[in-house]
Amino acid sequence: MKALVYQGPGKRSWESVPDPKIQVPTDAIVKIDTATICGTDLHILKGDVPAVKPGTILGHEAVGTIVETGSAVTGFVIGDRVLISCVSSCGRCRFCKEGRYGQCSGGGGWIFGHLINGLQAEYARVPFADNSLYKIPAGLTDEQVLFLSDILPTSFEVGVLNGQVKPGDTIAIVGAGPIGLAVIMAAKLFTPGKIIAIDLADSRLAKAKEFGADVTINNGSEDPIKKVFELTGGLGADVAVEAVGVPQTFELCTELIRPGGRVANVGVHGHAATLHLEKLWIKDVTITTGLVDTYSIPQLLSLIVGGRLDPTTFATHRFPMEETMAAYDVFGDAAKTHALKVVLETAATVSKPSTTVKTAARV
Ligand SMILES: [Zn+2]
Ligand SMILES: [Zn+2]
Repeated sequence: MKALVYQGPGKRSWESVPDPKIQVPTDAIVKIDTATICGTDLHILKGDVPAVKPGTILGHEAVGTIVETGSAVTGFVIGDRVLISCVSSCGRCRFCKEGRYGQCSGGGGWIFGHLINGLQAEYARVPFADNSLYKIPAGLTDEQVLFLSDILPTSFEVGVLNGQVKPGDTIAIVGAGPIGLAVIMAAKLFTPGKIIAIDLADSRLAKAKEFGADVTINNGSEDPIKKVFELTGGLGADVAVEAVGVPQTFELCTELIRPGGRVANVGVHGHAATLHLEKLWIKDVTITTGLVDTYSIPQLLSLIVGGRLDPTTFATHRFPMEETMAAYDVFGDAAKTHALKVVLETAATVSKPSTTVKTAARV
């Protein structure tokens, strides 16, 4: 089969690799029908995630069809259309039993395109299939559910639910890239009083308006703290969501909130940020962090089925799977291309891989 292979920092290729095969009885093999690229994949390509070894197939967000199941898989059969969670769950460890699949200590967690071969490929081996796959309700398209692999649950669980967004709240979202926009989309489920988007790029702020922000602030030309306090009668925001992942935006979030307010960090940080406890201790603030668990996928699926949530607006570009290399170029140059999410689609004619080919374990 063909797949997008990480070849070390700055290097990727679309090449022939051995077909995946069942390794343990809880595995399933899924033919990938639709996949997408994540900002995390770009971080990996920069060399920021050294756990990813050269030779690993990238990708952790996809929708596909089951073509083979291990003998212990009981919840799925060949032909089932499935959403693959970016986080795998062994279902047995302490963390999985608490619904904290992201922290799975039994071999799951974020493993696709990280510790094992990922999903930007014609076929993928899905470990712990019963716990890590979700049947796609009849009548929904791949694109309607694709962003439930990662970006929607991340913004919902780590941003909106951790931030305890309530009806009427003023919510300030720092960063209006795909994750910040997904936070806007998910926050709207709770009918906040006001959504404020803060970013340095006017083009991203324009998108934030399209997604439902009431007010936008370009913090390159305006003082966001002054503006947020003006908009909240001098109190500050009820919730600030950090959706960038640099020290300055985290520190800004802690300055935007009112006493008793919440800061929900969603951004992936690579450097230390300063926590101004000398100012914060007296304000009863709550600061949360987190890696997505994707426990909210069934809930988000219900919202899509009910017509209450439509994540298809994230799909700005579409490519045939074999043009994944070009799709990376477009996604990686989002400042110019204005790409939010690029959708990779496999031709419907690709057939089931032979199960006799030896697979390459590249952990
Ligand atoms: Zn992702
Ligand atoms: Zn587990």
